[in-house]
Amino acid sequence: MICIPITERSNHDAIKELKEASKLADIVELRLDYIESPDLNALLKERARPIIVTNRPKRQGGMFIGDETSRIDLLKKAISLNADYIDIEYDSVGKIKDAANTKLIVSYHNFNETPKDICKIHSDLTKSGAHIVKLVTFANSITDNFRIFELLNVVDFPTIAFCMGELGQISRILSPKFGGKLVFASLARGKESAPGQLTADEIINVYRVRQVNRKTEVYGLLGNPVAHSIGPYIHNGAFRENGINAVYVLFRVEDISCFIDSIKDKKMDIKGFSVTIPHKESIIGFLDEIDPIAEKIGAVNTVVNHNGKLSGYNTDCPAAIDALEKTLIPFSPHFIKGEMGDLQSPICGKKIVIIGAGGAGRALAFGLIGKGADVTIINRNYERGLDLSKAAGCNCVRFDELEKMDIDILINTTSVGMFPDVDKLPVPDTILKKGMTVFDVVYNPVETRLLREAKKRGCVILNGVEMFVKQAVLQFELFTGQEVPIELMKSIIAKLINC
Ligand code: NAP
Repeated sequence: MICIPITERSNHDAIKELKEASKLADIVELRLDYIESPDLNALLKERARPIIVTNRPKRQGGMFIGDETSRIDLLKKAISLNADYIDIEYDSVGKIKDAANTKLIVSYHNFNETPKDICKIHSDLTKSGAHIVKLVTFANSITDNFRIFELLNVVDFPTIAFCMGELGQISRILSPKFGGKLVFASLARGKESAPGQLTADEIINVYRVRQVNRKTEVYGLLGNPVAHSIGPYIHNGAFRENGINAVYVLFRVEDISCFIDSIKDKKMDIKGFSVTIPHKESIIGFLDEIDPIAEKIGAVNTVVNHNGKLSGYNTDCPAAIDALEKTLIPFSPHFIKGEMGDLQSPICGKKIVIIGAGGAGRALAFGLIGKGADVTIINRNYERGLDLSKAAGCNCVRFDELEKMDIDILINTTSVGMFPDVDKLPVPDTILKKGMTVFDVVYNPVETRLLREAKKRGCVILNGVEMFVKQAVLQFELFTGQEVPIELMKSIIAKLINC
């Protein structure tokens, strides 16, 4: 069930917000400590959903500034007005002698950490006369969430439990999978009542928390930072459209060894995860199996968990090759038959310059060489480019040689030209010649300055969206074993990046 806290300061605005929140929430929490001189009669008369009345003191992270007697008196008044629930702090519950028809949520908040003794704290709360206990801690690492899930898994008392903070966001999404009774979500951004609270729109429409249950499979993105990833929109959108009971969340992880241990010890059952900066290379040491192409590239962006056995893949490489082949086919009359009568890639034999030697550059270099291309690397850090060329078996030159080169296909794999530096060019525009194919893996913006200049000069152009869509499709298929229509993925991504 989803609960939206009301955080307005006046009775008038709180009533307005109560009505708005009731359209989305299953339960609404009236935060009396936010309201100056709360008019409980008027507020409770407007309820369209069950209401939790809370009057949180400063010592438990609330806003109430009056004395303790007047704070408790407001809660007693809520009881006399038949509030559905009151939330009372564990150290004040003794002051409520008779809850009449109102149910007691006895709460514990810790804004600093997830203490070692959460089981003992939970057990004490259950003995306090509570109908429901609420245990809310702060996550300082992603594994703090897993401890909350373990607790929820073993208790048989109605419990609301989750972690606060950015690192705790996954517990707000996943707690119903482990039996957590309530998920708090803000009515809008800026209206959060606790750190890390997601909006009701995110909880309901992106993560579909109402559908999360014990059978929901968990996927996610492992990286640091991850907050701005569009992965949850893509994968959860595809889960929804394919009718799959699964959810994709963001795992901001600093120490991957603890995270992987939790998966292997089955403390946290994660079926698969995408991997991003800075863990694409370091994850390899934790895998049981690695796809040969990912091993050559030295970077993994997808991990699948087969009953505790972790297998790593790189979907950037096949996605980039697929996007480029599709672009070249209409211009490649010799594509159909190779010398042996077999299908030959339109990439085979092409003179290709890759700008960049980072993750995307490596994926492209190995993929293109595998297709028989004549590849040259150019990178700002020449030594890094040279290392890649040696590993992949191709050439490496310095930027100043670019002007003299005969190029069929130019590929930018650097972040030059990416938002916000959209006016930057990774190469001088004078090297762009009619008939050349120019591929920019940057997808934000969709049409980079490099592609605009290339189009003006009569080049065939390819933006990074096709590759981005394909790598997401391949990842989804590895995760679920199900095909996802590419058009569906394209439409989800197009909406997100405005193309
Ligand atoms: P990365 O591993 O950090 O590599 C960055 C590359 O860009 C390095 O070669 C780096 O050169 C170069 N670079 C960065 N700033 C530069 C500058 N100011 N001038 C010249 N070169 C510069 O990053 P990545 O993961 O490969 O990603 C690179 C770009 O590809 C990003 O824009 C990313 O969004 C995009 N990408 C797109 C897709 C897709 O599906 N379309 C997939 C993956 C990545 P040094 O070695 O000299 O530092």
